Amino acid sequence: MTKITLHNTKTRQKEDLVPVKSGEVSMYVCGPTVYDRAHLGNARPVIIFDTLFRLLRHVYGEANVTYVRNFTDVDDKINARAAETGQSIREITDGTIGLYLSDMDAVGALHPTHMPRATEYIAPMVAMSADLIDKGYAYEAEGHVLFAVESYADYGKFSGRGIDDMIAGSRVEVAPYKRNPMDFVLWKPSDADTPGWDSPWGKGRPGWHIECSAMAHELLGESFDIHGGGNDLMFPHHENEIAQSKCAGHDFANIWMHNEMLQVEGKKMSKSLGNFFTVRDLLDQGVPGEVIRFVMLSTHYRKPMDWTEKKREEAEKTLRKWRLLVENVDGSYVPQDILLSLSDDLNTAGALTLMHKLANDGNVAELKSAGALLGLLGDEMGAWIDKGAVDLSVFSEKLGNAREKAMQSKDFSALDALKRALTEAGVEVRMSKEAVELLPTSTFDPSKLEGLL
Ligand SMILES: [Zn+2]
Repeated sequence: MTKITLHNTKTRQKEDLVPVKSGEVSMYVCGPTVYDRAHLGNARPVIIFDTLFRLLRHVYGEANVTYVRNFTDVDDKINARAAETGQSIREITDGTIGLYLSDMDAVGALHPTHMPRATEYIAPMVAMSADLIDKGYAYEAEGHVLFAVESYADYGKFSGRGIDDMIAGSRVEVAPYKRNPMDFVLWKPSDADTPGWDSPWGKGRPGWHIECSAMAHELLGESFDIHGGGNDLMFPHHENEIAQSKCAGHDFANIWMHNEMLQVEGKKMSKSLGNFFTVRDLLDQGVPGEVIRFVMLSTHYRKPMDWTEKKREEAEKTLRKWRLLVENVDGSYVPQDILLSLSDDLNTAGALTLMHKLANDGNVAELKSAGALLGLLGDEMGAWIDKGAVDLSVFSEKLGNAREKAMQSKDFSALDALKRALTEAGVEVRMSKEAVELLPTSTFDPSKLEGLL
C-alpha cells in the first residue's frame, strides 16, 4: 500500500499516516458557519481536503474512508442575520447550506461521508459539557458553562502560544463570571429571541468549540486519524477542541493539518480593500469551477496562496489544452510518481508539474487518470470548455482550400501565412497529399486563433 506522509501541526513534523483502525481512515474537517455565501478563501480548505479525501479513497478504497465536515448552524452571526433580514434562522441556514454545496460542487468537491449540523447534536454537547463539569474541568456560572483552562496543563501547547498571545488571539471578553479571562464557553444562556435548548443549566445554546468535539466523537469515535482546517482555526478553536476532548477522556485526532491563508494579488482579501469576492462571484463572471480548483492546487497547502488574474488565465489555457488532449480518451492508471507526489504531504503543485510532463509527452491516458485523482478533467466539470471552444476542423478546411489555390496560382504566401499563424498559436500543422492534420501542442492558445476565423 502506498505510504502517505502528512505534516502534523501537533508535532511540527511530517509523519507517516498510520490509521487507528488498520485499513480504514477517518478525517474531520471544520466546516462553515452558515449565514452567508462562501468567499474564495473558504474554498481553499474544501478543495485541499477534497483532494486528500480522493487520495485516501484511491489508496484505502472508497468504502474505507470516512470524512466528516460539519455545518455550524447555531451561531450569533446567524442570529444577527435573522434579526437583520426578518428571515427565520432555519431559512437562513437551510438556504446557505444549499448555496454552499452548489458552490463547492462547482469546484469539484465530493460530498463528505457525513455533513452533520450542529443543531442535530445538541444532546451530545450537553452530555459532554456535563461530563467536563463532573470531572472538574468545567464550571457553571450565571447560566454559562465554562471550560477552566487552568485545569488542563497542556493548554496552549498545541498552538504554541504564550498566555499574553492567547488573550490577544482569543479576543476574550473579560466577563465577571469567568474565573480566568481565557476560560471559554461550552454553553451559554438564550433569551426569548435566540434559539435555545433545555439543559441542566437552563435554556441555552452551545459554544462553537464544543460542537466539533462532540460531533467528531459521535461520528468517528474516541480517536481518529486526521483533523483539518485553516490555520486561522489553530487558536483558539482547535486548541479548545483538544482541551475539551482530551479532558473528556478522548484520544481525539492523531494528525492535525492546517492550510495557509489565501490572498488576492498579494494582498489580504478584505471588504475594505475592495478585493473581497465569493466563489459565486467568480463563477458568475464566467470563471469555470475547474479553473478555480486548478489554481488552488497549484500552490502547496502549507504555503500562502496568492490568487492572481495571471494564474487564472494560465490555468484556463492549460485546462483547455489538456481537455483537448484527453477528449474521448479512457484513463488507464495513475502514474506512480503522481501518487508519490500526493502521498508526500499532499504535494498537489508537484503533481500538476508531472501532469504537464504527461501532456507534453502525449501520455494522454495517464493524464486523464491523474486528473481524476486530483478532481480535474472529469466530464462533470467539462461543460465550460464548449463555450468559446475552437473547432480546429474549420482551420483544416481553410488550409485545404488555401493549398488548392496556391497550387493553381503558384502563390504560396497566403498558405504560408495561415500555417505560420497556426504554428504561433501552438498548433502543429501536418499536411500530406491526403489530409490536413492539426494537433494542439503544449503551447496551444485558442485565443490567438480568433483573428483567423
Ligand atoms: Zn472545528
